Amino acid sequence: DFSNFDDIMHFWAKERPDGPAFDQDGRTTSYAEADLLTRQLIALLRSRGIAAGDRIAWLGKNRDIYFMLYIAAARMGAVMVPIGWRLAPREIAYILTDTGAKLLFADADFIDTAHSVAGDVPANPEVIEAEAARTAAAGFEPVDYTPPGPHDPVLQLYTSGTTGNPKGAMLTNTNLLGLRNAGNEAGLDWNFYEPDDCMLVAMPCAHIGGTGLVNIAIANGVRSLVQAEFSPVGVLEAIEAGATHMFIVPAALQMVVQHPRAASTDFSNLKYLMYGAAPMPLELLKEAVRTMPTTRFLQAYGMTETAGTISILPPEDHSLEGNQRMRSAGKACPAVSIEVRGPDNREVPRGEIGEVCILSPTNTPGYWKLPEATAKTIDPDGWLHTGDAGVMDEDGYVYIQDRIKDMIISGGENVYPAEVESAIYGHPAIAEVAVIGVPSAKWGEEVKACVVAKPGCEIDEADVIAWARERIAAFKAPKSVDVIPVMPRNASGKILRRELRAPYWEGQE
Ligand code: ATP
Ligand code: MG
Repeated sequence: DFSNFDDIMHFWAKERPDGPAFDQDGRTTSYAEADLLTRQLIALLRSRGIAAGDRIAWLGKNRDIYFMLYIAAARMGAVMVPIGWRLAPREIAYILTDTGAKLLFADADFIDTAHSVAGDVPANPEVIEAEAARTAAAGFEPVDYTPPGPHDPVLQLYTSGTTGNPKGAMLTNTNLLGLRNAGNEAGLDWNFYEPDDCMLVAMPCAHIGGTGLVNIAIANGVRSLVQAEFSPVGVLEAIEAGATHMFIVPAALQMVVQHPRAASTDFSNLKYLMYGAAPMPLELLKEAVRTMPTTRFLQAYGMTETAGTISILPPEDHSLEGNQRMRSAGKACPAVSIEVRGPDNREVPRGEIGEVCILSPTNTPGYWKLPEATAKTIDPDGWLHTGDAGVMDEDGYVYIQDRIKDMIISGGENVYPAEVESAIYGHPAIAEVAVIGVPSAKWGEEVKACVVAKPGCEIDEADVIAWARERIAAFKAPKSVDVIPVMPRNASGKILRRELRAPYWEGQE
């Protein structure tokens, strides 16, 4: 078991010195090199006055040097704050101000933004270009340092901001490494890595699906194949080049399986595909399973606040023959407890809907500088309230319905958009769909579907409504359909329903 990132790097530098740790654009960094470089980066951080507990920030796409900076910070107990490169300068400034970061590392593409934003925030962080940091580090002798304790934060990740302002979740060594240790003890095959395995890291590093993957890869001493940003072709090429493990969000998976090159791609290298972060439409999942027949699929459910995955739907529940469980987000991971609770904060009977609550060694100690939000989310006994509605069956499988905030109450009935979206998803003319509630004199709220057409397709409102009514209860089917040109999504690929809702609710809420 590893208790911090310093242990990890010492261990693999000794066990697998020549084994590749990072690979990007043809440049490979071995574990021995990554160990040395991260210790030199610690010396560089020290020379800039960084001590344990200080925040340092990253602005840029996925770069191997970012991950090295993250590991360096974690080894000495400083806290890395990766900032999403799709954010507007105002949002970047908000995070820099909120964290009080003293240093801002930026890749060359974002250096101008970094300089202009840094000049505007009170802490006025020093800006260092990423490759310049790599070069400068080579001139430093490693220094002595004390690695942080198990409950010290080493990563501060902002939530995706799907439902409102992003919140900075502090993640400790135990949060980031606890489940890997527990999973090893449980002997799960998908938790086991062979020395030649390769993790494709294509999801953004400012999200747990990006940086969290590198935690798993380095804790297991395997290679991270880093791609600056997601592209369907990039993923297809990486798989043919030998990626064995990956994590992907449903919107990105759709682009991969529907890409013209998917049909001629050899997916046999890919041993495990983990998906999650948003509801997975069943038809899309089946299509992906058919496209990658030898790959084992895993659904992951989790959130930034739980340092990622806390429940898994294992490969055996992905058989195409009439498998009800394919809709499930699976069972709690080893060392995790999940309860579905009612408004009285007590567990509801199995089969009934409630709020998904989590007790896990990976639960964040809290949001940075937001004691009220922390107290609202985490009970004194450590249970975290996810804000997601779910049902647990007799066997402990959890079915995520949707976010409680997104539930539509139409004529007194509760409708969860994800279920309606999944039903509409298979319509031959529809590429993307989001379901929202809009004000209705008759029903209070009524269900509306916002759809993006497939290229060259016309969408007929009555036809979409009829399609839905054949598949789900009439009260869940949309009463109206808007055809929109593009689906509003955030950097994690999640649909921004609040943007679709806004014009209908102006002055009403
Ligand atoms: P914010 O909290 O700022 O509104 P966010 O909740 O989208 O943003 P994340 O922490 O990235 O930020 O996402 C966690 C959420 O993603 C979960 O609470 C859940 O709603 C959704 N989610 C994650 N995994 C799954 C899954 N397998 N199926 C359905 N939904 C999922
Ligand atoms: Mg959230």
